[in-house]
Amino acid sequence: SFTNSSTTGKTLTVAVEPTFPPFEFQSATGELQGFDVDLIQAIAQSANFKVKYQNMPFAGMIPALQTQTVDAAVAAMTITAERVKIISFSRPYFKSGLAIATRTDNQNITNFDNLKNKIIGVQIGTTGALKAKNIPGAEIRTFNDSPLTLQALINGNVDAVLNDQVVILYGIKSGDLKRLKIVSSLLTEEFYGIPTPKGSPNLDLINQGLATVLKNGTYAKIYQKWFGT
Ligand code: GLN
Repeated sequence: SFTNSSTTGKTLTVAVEPTFPPFEFQSATGELQGFDVDLIQAIAQSANFKVKYQNMPFAGMIPALQTQTVDAAVAAMTITAERVKIISFSRPYFKSGLAIATRTDNQNITNFDNLKNKIIGVQIGTTGALKAKNIPGAEIRTFNDSPLTLQALINGNVDAVLNDQVVILYGIKSGDLKRLKIVSSLLTEEFYGIPTPKGSPNLDLINQGLATVLKNGTYAKIYQKWFGT
C-alpha cells in the first residue's frame, strides 16, 4: 500500500484497482499513478487528510463501501441511479461514456444494433456490463478487469467489448491495444464521482477538497498532464 505523507490530519482508506489507465494504473516500476491518483492526492492535501490505498477488484468496491471496510475509492466510478441507492458520491469530477471496441479488421460491427447475437466482453460490475444486458441474443463473457477484457478481444475470444471510451482510446494511443479500434459514437453519457459509504462524514471533506482543486487550477493541471496533447 501507498501512503501520502505530505499532509497531517486523519487517514482515509481508499480502494483502488490499478488496472484502468490513465485513471489508476502502475508504472513500469510498480508505482501507483494516474489521473484519479493525482486528484485524490490533491484533494487530500487541500482538505488535510492522508490516503492509505487498499487494492481490490472493481466489483468488490461497492460491497467494501457498504460495509465501511474502506472510506472511499478512486476507480473512475460512474455515478448511477442504482449505486446512489446504496452508496454516496462526491460531486461529478469527469465526464465519460461507454464505447464499443472491436478489432481493426472487423467490418461487420459498426453500431450498437450490430452487436445482436455476438459475443460481448465486459468487465464484471461495470456500467459496460449493465449495458451489455440490453443486447438481444448476445453471449456475454465477463472478466475481472479491463485489461483482461480487452485482451480477450485482441485474442479473438470475443467480438466486441463495452468499456469506458476514454480508457480504450488511451490504450490505443499508448500502443498497448494496437489491433483495436472504437466504432460508433458514445453509447452513454456518464459522470465519475468519488464514492463513500452512504452518509459518510468524509463526503463533505472530499467535496470541499474537490471544490478547491477545481477552483485553484490544480484540477486543470492534472487534466492537462493525463489528457493534454
Ligand atoms: N466507469 C465504469 C463504471 O463505473 C468502469 C469503472 C472501472 O472499471 N474502474 O462501472
